[in-house]
Amino acid sequence: MDNHSNDSLNIGNNFFGIGNNNSNCGENKSTNNDNEQQKWILHDRLPSPVTLKEALTRYLDITNPPTQRILSILSEHASNSYESELLKNLSKDSAAYENWKAKYFPNFLEILTEFSSINPPLEFIFTQLPVLKPRHYSISSSSLTQSAFQIDLTVAVIQYYTESGYRHYGVCSNFLNDKPIGGDVFAFIRSAPNFRLPKERKVPIIMVGPGTGIAPFRSFWEHRIKLKELNPSADYGKMTLFFGCRYPSMQLYREEIETAMLNNVIKDYHVAYSRQPNQPKKYVQDIMRLLSRQIYSDLIERKGHIYVCGDVSMAQDVNKTLQFILNENGIHDADMTLLSLKESMRYHEDIFGITLRTAEVTNRNRSDAVRRTFSNS
Ligand SMILES: Cc1cc2nc3c(=O)[nH]c(=O)nc-3n(C[C@H](O)[C@H](O)[C@H](O)COP(=O)(O)OP(=O)(O)OC[C@H]3O[C@@H](n4cnc5c(N)ncnc54)[C@H](O)[C@@H]3O)c2cc1C
Repeated sequence: MDNHSNDSLNIGNNFFGIGNNNSNCGENKSTNNDNEQQKWILHDRLPSPVTLKEALTRYLDITNPPTQRILSILSEHASNSYESELLKNLSKDSAAYENWKAKYFPNFLEILTEFSSINPPLEFIFTQLPVLKPRHYSISSSSLTQSAFQIDLTVAVIQYYTESGYRHYGVCSNFLNDKPIGGDVFAFIRSAPNFRLPKERKVPIIMVGPGTGIAPFRSFWEHRIKLKELNPSADYGKMTLFFGCRYPSMQLYREEIETAMLNNVIKDYHVAYSRQPNQPKKYVQDIMRLLSRQIYSDLIERKGHIYVCGDVSMAQDVNKTLQFILNENGIHDADMTLLSLKESMRYHEDIFGITLRTAEVTNRNRSDAVRRTFSNS
């Protein structure tokens, strides 16, 4: 494993999450029409044997809103006709479903609470609920510094309130947060060959990673510090880090970054604060804009690399800012230049996006739902 890259650790607190979905279990009764005999068939969705409690806590996805297909099945298990009709309607009307889902983001328990006449049979739970998917985390440590048995991650613990007032917990981030030290976690490594330190070690590197987007960059500077220790006379390209958070107290890895700067590994460090009292909101792209000439020089004149990691709206804003910077420095076909930087593996993006606030998530999901409805009609 070569961790001066954005290889990611993939965690599932279950078999399926780590790709070992090979155990047969959960027998199911089926009817053979020819001779009217009943027989048991094997299901390969869950390990065997598994209790209902285990299935619900470790293997099945009960936190995402049920699909329309599941709602349709549930409508048949609601004894109250009003509830049954409501569920049926949501299962058929995609616009209503998307709106309802974006507004309430209901999990399975909330459905059973809100539609209290539903009484789903056990077979439904075992055979129809989707299985949990693995979660990816950028590796935040260098293979040169970590021990063979240690990998560092930088994880935001997800908790938020829905519009109906329910508190929701992210499955994997809270699972990790609650794990006692020394506890077991099932995981596998997925390589990210496009998000590695450049082979040419002297070219400048620009790293843009607000919030947990800083995760892979921690492995970059750790790696460089270690390389410098091993070979003090070697020259390395300048590293510039753009980070963003709400307040100064939320700066991640502050002391480590200061050490990396003292070691001449990180040359420039810029932080944007988005919630400082009595100050306008600032995001990474706002600071980049102010450093237009420097970014142009590092990226274009000195043939540097830029790495962007974090949520999708930030990555789009950074892309627009890069277009502005190129234009300002005399490049007219900025979008083509950025495309060719991507093709030549000098513009690297790693996008994951759940750091948005509830209102932003809800409004965006709603407008997406409405757009989809109109474009389908
Ligand atoms: C390649 C890659 C690398 C990643 N690296 C990292 C990393 O280094 N660090 C890191 O922390 N994460 C990283 N992620 C994200 C990570 O994989 C998980 O998605 C994240 O930790 C949430 O997982 P969870 O199981 O805790 O939450 P889940 O149970 O999956 O819940 C998350 C879901 O809750 C909803 N949600 C979350 N917040 C809100 C809100 N405020 N309002 C409304 N709905 C909301 C959204 O629908 C979201 O999809 C990475 C993702 C990818 C794809």
